[in-house]
Amino acid sequence: MSDVGTVETMQRDEAAGELEWLAGEIARHDRLYHALDAPEISDADYDALRRRNAAIEARFPDLVRADSPALRVGAPPVEAFGKVAHAVPMLSLDNAMADEDVVEFIARIRRFLNLGEGDPVAISAEPKIDGLSCALRYEDGLLVRGATRGDGTTGEDITANVRTIFDIPQRLAAEGDPPALLEVRGEIFMHHADFQALNRRREDNGDPVFANPRNAAAGSVRQLDSRITARRRLRFFAYAWGEAEPAIDGSYSAFLDRLERLGFNVNPLRRLCRTAGELVEYHREIASMRHELGYDIDGVVLKIDDIALQRRLGFVGRAPRWAIAHKFEAEKVETRLLEIRIQVGRTGALTPVAELESVTVGGVVVSRATLHNQDYIEEKDIRVGDIVTIQRAGDVIPQVVTVDVDRRPEDARPFIFPDHCPECGSLAIRPEGEAVRRCTGGLVCPAQLTERLRHFVSREAFDIEGLGRKQVPQLIEAGLIREPADIFRLARDRGTLDRLESLDGWAEKKVQKLVKALDERRRIGLDRVIYGLGIRFVGETNARLLARHYGSLEGWRSAMLQIGTSDEEALAELNGIDGIGPRIVEALREFFAEGRNVEVLDALTGELQVEAVAMPNGDATPFSGKTLVFTGSLAMSRAEAKARAEALGAKVAGSVSKKTDFVIAGADAGSKARKAAELGIDVLSEAQWMEMAATS
Ligand SMILES: [Zn+2]
Repeated sequence: MSDVGTVETMQRDEAAGELEWLAGEIARHDRLYHALDAPEISDADYDALRRRNAAIEARFPDLVRADSPALRVGAPPVEAFGKVAHAVPMLSLDNAMADEDVVEFIARIRRFLNLGEGDPVAISAEPKIDGLSCALRYEDGLLVRGATRGDGTTGEDITANVRTIFDIPQRLAAEGDPPALLEVRGEIFMHHADFQALNRRREDNGDPVFANPRNAAAGSVRQLDSRITARRRLRFFAYAWGEAEPAIDGSYSAFLDRLERLGFNVNPLRRLCRTAGELVEYHREIASMRHELGYDIDGVVLKIDDIALQRRLGFVGRAPRWAIAHKFEAEKVETRLLEIRIQVGRTGALTPVAELESVTVGGVVVSRATLHNQDYIEEKDIRVGDIVTIQRAGDVIPQVVTVDVDRRPEDARPFIFPDHCPECGSLAIRPEGEAVRRCTGGLVCPAQLTERLRHFVSREAFDIEGLGRKQVPQLIEAGLIREPADIFRLARDRGTLDRLESLDGWAEKKVQKLVKALDERRRIGLDRVIYGLGIRFVGETNARLLARHYGSLEGWRSAMLQIGTSDEEALAELNGIDGIGPRIVEALREFFAEGRNVEVLDALTGELQVEAVAMPNGDATPFSGKTLVFTGSLAMSRAEAKARAEALGAKVAGSVSKKTDFVIAGADAGSKARKAAELGIDVLSEAQWMEMAATS
């Protein structure tokens, strides 16, 4: 492959030809990697392809293709979704709950078509995916629009979002003979593994978790910022069509085969059946394997296979007469609630769990179910000793759905939710407007210990070579580490090192290496220390903002102690830092209100030499160490302007005060520019700022 340098001398037609090749090649590798899990090239070679595509697109922006691989990473956010009218309505299916409903469905069709005893009718059966239906419009083989189902008549335009889903081809494959117009319909969904990983990440960030994969998929598809959608691993199964030109004829099963040739995933468990008996058997088989599929299904869909017969059968009201959804029975069962236990999650969330008399639901023995949170228990008035109905919704953790008040034991008392962490005794608080009560003992709580220490050694935090996610639980279990400072104490204590050497996988060499790595990390930037503490909402960016603002460990620590006592002046200063929102302020206040967290911090910093954050481009710029305020509308986005300023060593503040050094005023700058003038602060136009920034 030629290197990026040659792009500079590339001719237009050459560029167009290569962009076409790259679009096809990258799409092929995407599919091999994401859909088939069988990559042919290394990540580095793949990245090289994408970089080359980006370089050519940058030089020839007018040649950017509709199926450009760059679209896979998402586009800038939109204000709202546009509306899309479905030329062919997206209908819903009638439901069959019992086997007899399927028998009746077939009988009705036979009567309608006036079929004789001997005339077979083929029915295509496939799992019913529990996701989000969507319509994809392809013109001359190119994806031009994606839309949600909406109310069936009008949906939302989610084109930028569906472009980020690797199962959805941007260009239909030539093998399937792409028609002039084809609207492919199917289901967007999420695998259990991806759902769990997403929820873990959300929990780590303090964001609310999704209740089930369906909600997660729906929430991801309906993101106004498609770059967020791009980070969620969404999947797609195709199973229907809307508008098509030329019209789709023949059989439904042949159409599914063609969808596969066009580059779509079609459910591999589909089967052609000929009798009601076969359909009932198919339903039973799929039900028995539903928990091993790795994604949620809620039944099977049965469709008359012959498309000409489908047309003859037509619709009753808004549902087709030629199809039906044979649902799975809701997996609900009654049992007795023996105890309500409070579980403390990795991030300190107190979750009530119902301990149950063991019972079988959907082939699985269940002795525990989630009660979600405090409100849930209170609203349903769930008490220990009650007979409750539990349900396995989708394939997530079973939940208690109802309680039979009539069969309640006389001595049952309302449950009182604890206000202290059962694991560590720290205060557990529930911020206003939040459903979850949390333990505030971030660094002292054993329930949170493993994840806290894993976070502490992670690459963005202390980045300790030889001590990663895998080793942390091992060292905790061996009793070698209980808090961050212990990690550094390891290197100082011969006895501990001997014990470490005796552990699985720790030879003498490895221990020596770890000691060296630890000593290298004793000098560390304040921003990494702050980030490493794993305070809720304090990610890398916020940690850097705090480190820059307060300058030194001492400055930051003393300010935070004041925050912990809700000192008004300290709170006002913290609130005034551009980029630090009320959630972060509250999280810092909670953290520093717990004295034991401060002890842990002090023990840690006693082992370290904490450095003030180095300003990039250090002393060279006129903005180093200065405080800047941006106001008015700028040509550059606020985010970019801020990143630029920080790269030049400046701090960015949200409001003008005596501490402000420069105000950069864009068009229509209002009160801030006036205030700057009053205070005698230098006001720069955007052009002046750009010029100074460029030469710095
Ligand atoms: Zn705790």
